[in-house]
Amino acid sequence: MNAVIDIKPVESTVNTTLGCADAPVLKERGQREVFCGLTGIIWLHRKIQDAFFLVVGSRTCAHLLQSAAGVMIFAEPRFATAIIDERDLAGLADANTELDRVVTRLLDRRPDIKMLFLVGSCPSEVIKLDLSRAAQRLSKTFAPSVRILNYSGSGIETTFTQGEDACLASLVPEMAASTAPALMVVGALADVVEDQFKRLFDALDIGPVQFFPPRHAAELPAVGPNTRFLLAQPFLADTARVLEARGAQRLTAPFPLGAEGTTEWLRAAANAFGVSPSRFERVVAPKRERAQMALARHQEILTGKRIFFFPDSQLEVPLARFLSRELGMTLTEVGSPYLHRQHLASEMALLPANTMLSEGQDVERQLDRCRAAKPDIVVCGLGLANPLENEGFTTKWAIELVFTPIQGYEQAADLAELFTRPLTRRMKLHA
Ligand code: SF4
Repeated sequence: MNAVIDIKPVESTVNTTLGCADAPVLKERGQREVFCGLTGIIWLHRKIQDAFFLVVGSRTCAHLLQSAAGVMIFAEPRFATAIIDERDLAGLADANTELDRVVTRLLDRRPDIKMLFLVGSCPSEVIKLDLSRAAQRLSKTFAPSVRILNYSGSGIETTFTQGEDACLASLVPEMAASTAPALMVVGALADVVEDQFKRLFDALDIGPVQFFPPRHAAELPAVGPNTRFLLAQPFLADTARVLEARGAQRLTAPFPLGAEGTTEWLRAAANAFGVSPSRFERVVAPKRERAQMALARHQEILTGKRIFFFPDSQLEVPLARFLSRELGMTLTEVGSPYLHRQHLASEMALLPANTMLSEGQDVERQLDRCRAAKPDIVVCGLGLANPLENEGFTTKWAIELVFTPIQGYEQAADLAELFTRPLTRRMKLHA
């Protein structure tokens, strides 16, 4: 396998001269319409197959999880809510005792659980509880068979994808130290996507490659100064920061959405691992061309259509880049809850020069701008979708883009279809 070495990089043919990396951004700080970080549990519990997520929260938190994940039926559920009712400070000792009792009963009943996350929430009685101390206390009791960690899924200052960021960041201190060269792919991906990337990295002779989060608690990657990591998701600011604090180096790349994004993402790893340009082209060209052909039929529907993004998942900028460059859509506004300038640098450089970017949200003002722009399709959270549909807009739920496998060559056309489907449905309705 190749080590991390410096050789002449595989040159990108992507034209970045028209980007909007330095474009002004409209910053808004008003009322927001987003889900909280607990939502991440819905895809994380599927990814880490022997983990359990115990939300320490209120009845509202339990309802959110039940309704968001309610369509799934589990023989052995892997998340639950420990409901902490209104308690005064004097009741905190009781709350800790109660938490210990719930955890002990759960772990006694479920020896399959190897990793337990205590997930904090935003009700004031939960904020008073010190969950990191609770995790330490319980770890002493249940180590080494179960790792007990904590993170916050609170909705006070976060958006729904940041729950994954907080979860992954809590795992980094658990990683073993290593000086061996390795590639780490950071961010939850569907297993099928992970397997496809693994085959591509193998064909490029890049490795060893580890995916984080792992499928099993015992498979946490090691980390150190020779770890190079590729972000698979754009909402992992804290995770990247703590990995860098352990010596790992982030590879700068667009995110692997669409044929172009996937190629440039793979190219960043190829350059870091000394893959020759000819080998890179030999491996990726057939996959890239197949993806481009599959996108062609979606171009017929999407080219020239105008799209408006409300801030929700933090996937907005990579999606906008894909939809404008590979499908010819016109970007009326690209709103994101948070624009991480460094992590999005390669993406912003690829956006059309005049793209209207906004960060944060003042929902009423943004609704006014959306109505004035009259886009053909709006990407937004669930709370805005129904009212906008009632006003005659075609909408796409941002959360669906997080739940669906959309990364990589083989998913490029599926990703495009998520936008063509609502548009063709509306066209048929009005035919
Ligand atoms: S964490 Fe906060 S925002 Fe999320 S469901 Fe619980 S109470 Fe609501």
